Amino acid sequence: MKDDQCIFCKIANGEIPSRTIYEDEHFRVILDNGPATDGHALVLPKDHYRDLFEMPEDLAAQAMKTAKKTAELLKEKLHADGLNLVQNNGEVAGQTVPHFHIHLIPRYKNDGQTIAWNATHPDDAQLDAVLDKVTK
Ligand code: 5GP
Ligand code: ZN
Repeated sequence: MKDDQCIFCKIANGEIPSRTIYEDEHFRVILDNGPATDGHALVLPKDHYRDLFEMPEDLAAQAMKTAKKTAELLKEKLHADGLNLVQNNGEVAGQTVPHFHIHLIPRYKNDGQTIAWNATHPDDAQLDAVLDKVTK
């Protein structure tokens, strides 16, 4: 299903041109137009799912296969030293376009980028309380 109001639906399905580095029946991988580094790319499903929670499990698995394939391409062609996979779900998590996508961010020594969070320091009881919530 497509969403008429969604820019990534239009890009993924070729209605809006994009710098495409890979395409198959279910996905298009494009260059991000506000890249963190050279080669920053986005894996877009052609059907509209808002986020990981809406994605069917099979398609999510295929998205990761596509990410791996294109990560290898980017690493080889751009001589990247490393690569971050980033996938944001929900505004609070930094998602700005509500159409599922995986960021592929090639990393280069001294590229000046940081993809980071602030570590907290819970004690054992706090960690155990979280474990209980998740597993019980
Ligand atoms: P998010 O913050 O939702 O995880 O990531 C959205 C990403 O999409 C951003 O990195 C942004 O630069 C990229 N982006 C937004 N609009 C467009 C567009 O029209 N074309 C391309 N190629 N990238 C876009
Ligand atoms: Zn969409």
